[in-house]
Amino acid sequence: MVSGIVAGRLALVTGAGSGIGRAACQVLSREGATVIAADRNYDSAVETIKTHTALASGSNDGDHSAVELDVSDSSAVRNLLQTTLDQYKAPPTIIVNSAGITRDNWLLKLSEEDYDSVLSVNLKGTFLVMQTFAKAMTETATPGSIINISSIVGKYGNMGQTNYAGSKAGVVAMTQSAAKELGRFNIRVNAILPGFIDTPIIKTVPDKVVQGMLKLVPLGRLGLPSEVAELITFLSSNKSSFITGAAIDVTGGF
Ligand code: NAD
Repeated sequence: MVSGIVAGRLALVTGAGSGIGRAACQVLSREGATVIAADRNYDSAVETIKTHTALASGSNDGDHSAVELDVSDSSAVRNLLQTTLDQYKAPPTIIVNSAGITRDNWLLKLSEEDYDSVLSVNLKGTFLVMQTFAKAMTETATPGSIINISSIVGKYGNMGQTNYAGSKAGVVAMTQSAAKELGRFNIRVNAILPGFIDTPIIKTVPDKVVQGMLKLVPLGRLGLPSEVAELITFLSSNKSSFITGAAIDVTGGF
């Protein structure tokens, strides 16, 4: 008998091959969910399922699966819904949008291509996954929880990240709007705004800049992916049953 705060639930996690998405798979599976790990990098999603989910869930290996998905490709997102319905006979009731990229540059130097690619993955990708899977939940009258990973940069801005900050502010506004529309279907939609979390995405930030940022973090350290994943799992579960349209900082106080 599987136990945990999301026992028996099916969860789709994008960006599941690394960092926060991988940690989300780990904690959700520890708490009893069956996890579909989706990533543009298929091998990394397989690695998440094989190594991290099984490790995390101990006796509960679950019926997890790994899939290749580019969240910015609408037909790929629609295909994933279909294969999920074929395999599991029901849509996931937990959706975690963690796929994200950076293409940093000064505003005055930022190329249109780098602007478009960041918006296309971070904002349009979140939109496509949310729309496609929310629709499936409404059609099957299934209550659910959608968690979109924004960023604290979407609230305060950051030098060199006009494209990224814009995309992440958009994720918050989109989350709040979707929460208003989907409440009547008992689908909750929330955003998380991580601060500086120790994952591969921040490896491109010069160490000097990271050290400078850390001086502004009252807890004085980078966050762990698991510290975001615990909140993702709480928001996925019925423990957060009256929370929707929220945008919650996980920043060590930044
Ligand atoms: P990460 O680079 O470790 O993981 C991101 C994952 O997304 C990778 O596995 C990558 O292959 C996947 N991905 C990229 N483009 C994709 C696409 N088009 N389709 C599907 N998958 C794709 O980064 P992370 O730190 O785990 O970031 C996860 C989310 O958290 C991102 O949205 C990021 O913007 C956000 N975030 C991270 C931090 C941080 O400090 N790490 C802070 C704030 C917000």
